[in-house]
Amino acid sequence: MPGNHQGRDPRKHKRKPLGVGYSARKSPLYDNCFLHAPDGQPLCTCDRRKAQWYLDKGIGELVSEEPFVVKLQFEPAGRPESPGDYYLMVKENLCVVCGKKDSYIRKNVIPHEYRKHFPIEMKDHNSHDVLLLCTSCHAISNYYDNHLKQQLAREFQAPTGSEEGLRLLEDPERRQVRSGARALLNAEGLPAHRKEELLQALREFYRTDTVTEEMLQEAAGLETRYDPQSCSEGAED
Ligand SMILES: [Zn+2]
Repeated sequence: MPGNHQGRDPRKHKRKPLGVGYSARKSPLYDNCFLHAPDGQPLCTCDRRKAQWYLDKGIGELVSEEPFVVKLQFEPAGRPESPGDYYLMVKENLCVVCGKKDSYIRKNVIPHEYRKHFPIEMKDHNSHDVLLLCTSCHAISNYYDNHLKQQLAREFQAPTGSEEGLRLLEDPERRQVRSGARALLNAEGLPAHRKEELLQALREFYRTDTVTEEMLQEAAGLETRYDPQSCSEGAED
């Protein structure tokens, strides 16, 4: 499918500054407060609200204010596997792509529509795929996300839910053959030349000289979505 790339790289649009229409976060994403185990082992960083919650419930003890460290008074369900654990890292409030420190927003690396199908153990208390991006890097990443979504939709016949996603999955030739066959089956009063046109399309599609009633019936119920085996080639150009 040559030339099936929808849209253009947004970086090539000079007129509108990138990221317009995205509203940036009003507050930092990371407060970098710490939770410690009863024996003092650091467990994870968290936001101020969560740390405060343990204090308010009386199940945490304030160790220091700056940085804000709360020691849990119960044995946690799990402990980090190494001191370099992702959840122990102090995370800066900046764009992870370009380093810009203002106007960032959360980026879900795995879009919600995919993540919701993941097994529960992959979703539970897992923030690995939430990162900060500035508004223009966000716009660019969404652009590439959409390409990948379309590619995945074709490869696995899994439309992304939008009308467009469904349409992109359809083979226009097969759709034409199907609607032609339906017209031939239903419309007695079809003009002769139109009838011949539709028949010709069917002959070409089935590589035959005669179109039987059986073929017409089959064509009228033709699957119009791409066969995943036949559409992987040429997807890249
Ligand atoms: Zn950026």
